[in-house]
Amino acid sequence: MYLKTLTLKGFKSFANTVHMSLEPGVTCVVGPNGSGKSNVVDALAWVMGEQGAKNLRGGSMADVIFAGTKTKAPLGRAEVELTIDNTDGALPIEYSEVTISRTMFRSGGSEYAINGTPVRLLDIQELLSDTGMGRQMHVIVGQGQLDAILSASETERRAFIEEAAGVLKHRQRKDRALKKLENLAVNLSRVQDLTNDVG
Ligand code: ATP
Repeated sequence: MYLKTLTLKGFKSFANTVHMSLEPGVTCVVGPNGSGKSNVVDALAWVMGEQGAKNLRGGSMADVIFAGTKTKAPLGRAEVELTIDNTDGALPIEYSEVTISRTMFRSGGSEYAINGTPVRLLDIQELLSDTGMGRQMHVIVGQGQLDAILSASETERRAFIEEAAGVLKHRQRKDRALKKLENLAVNLSRVQDLTNDVG
């Protein structure tokens, strides 16, 4: 599995559509300070479902949308498309090439798709969760992040290990199931009250 292409449209400093082809192995992005190298890395994290504006070096999520320059008007939406080569079947999906995309409008909300079919964020997270490219993005090591891992608390360190071991996905499923059970109990007690009233 390797990252094959990355397309940015209206994402951060990339007002015009930029298409990048990547090869297996090491890719280096070089350029002057402020030219958008880190924005490319932010785009990778964002398309894979990153939810924290701070992790994308912004104040709010809308900061990922091209904000305009002296010569260019701001845009109303940001879009990133990432194609992953899956010929080795590392992703649990029956396609040798998988394209995930995320679009966000200034009015808010993100739309996700896998190979052009609209999906939920959860589907993207589950698709990537066993590859190490899951929710916590340990494959993307930002500046200062190594320090954060070294000085992590025991609980945080456990979460890193759980994600690496593929446990996180099941923990999230368990949490969702417990939440549903909780809601069910509330509804049941409401039904009980109504039944008592009627009786
Ligand atoms: P360095 O080498 O200094 O780390 P870099 O090449 O990694 O720099 P980035 O941090 O990726 O550069 O890009 C910073 C540039 O992106 C700044 O010029 C900033 O104004 C621009 N930028 C960030 N968000 C937006 C946005 N929403 N709209 C327009 N431009 C943006």
